[in-house]
Amino acid sequence: MHRPPPAPNNGGARERRSFLSPPRQQWWGLGGFLALSFLAPVAQANPPKTPAKQSKPAPPKAQAKAQAKAQVQAKAQVQAERQVLPNAFYDSPNFPERYRPYLTLLAKDEYEQERGYKFNKIIRGDIRKQRIALTFDDGPHPVYTLQLLDILRRTHTPATFFVVGRQVEKNPALVQLEVAEGHEVGNHTYDHVNLTLIPPELIPYELDQCDAAIKKATGSSARFFRPPGGDYNGDVIRDAAKRGYITTLWTNDPGDFQKPPADVILHRALDHLENGAIILMHDGIPQTLQVLPQFIAEARRRGYQFVTVSRLARDY
Ligand SMILES: [Zn+2]
Repeated sequence: MHRPPPAPNNGGARERRSFLSPPRQQWWGLGGFLALSFLAPVAQANPPKTPAKQSKPAPPKAQAKAQAKAQVQAKAQVQAERQVLPNAFYDSPNFPERYRPYLTLLAKDEYEQERGYKFNKIIRGDIRKQRIALTFDDGPHPVYTLQLLDILRRTHTPATFFVVGRQVEKNPALVQLEVAEGHEVGNHTYDHVNLTLIPPELIPYELDQCDAAIKKATGSSARFFRPPGGDYNGDVIRDAAKRGYITTLWTNDPGDFQKPPADVILHRALDHLENGAIILMHDGIPQTLQVLPQFIAEARRRGYQFVTVSRLARDY
């Protein structure tokens, strides 16, 4: 079912402040920063040979000129990277280790770019802001969704529900209630199938049938789409992009769909709390309901503010 985020943010273009390609600017900044960090020690370990030891040394003047030029270029690159994020962030001693896992996301991003995958995607919010988004997939559930909504109402916590079209048709009133109480609703396909395993010509059906169900229940279409299991390929991307969806992934997956003990869900979710986090939980899991009030309270105690995915995306 659900796996860790399969992909980072993309967006294709390097334009600044575009929320459609949120963490991408940061990945560039991070990539450049780390590339410089990695290259620097190598350069020190292998100092250039002195002209005296070379059989045919370059004229000293030309060499000095090339060195100066390289220095200017390196400085300009660092300055360009630092325009993306404030210096204080780069200078933080926590910076490299804390964000190292996202190097894998950067790699995936590059892979997608090479293959021309350009689509709107959000995997996390702005890492400079203490905002996080709770997302609940696979609902609405005839029993548990009401309990979930009760907890969210009591704690004044907005959330985003990635609903399954078939479930929406059975329980349209629950989806209406979600919207009425200030939550956001996203498309999670009609049948909750792995979109990379079905014939590609059926992907539009999965997206459109779910959209029709949401529209019938709430009166409007969703802006955000999450592929079941986070699985997507070029066909999924093309069809989602054609419909204007922003594909939403996650940073924090406590694995509640496997129904582990409630305290395991709580600890996993709290261990991965960070600025801009998108937390993947599921509608219809009693263990999640058990720990949700505690999770919300602890996240607030640590200074985080809960927002919808739309609000998180507006930070870019
Ligand atoms: Zn799902």
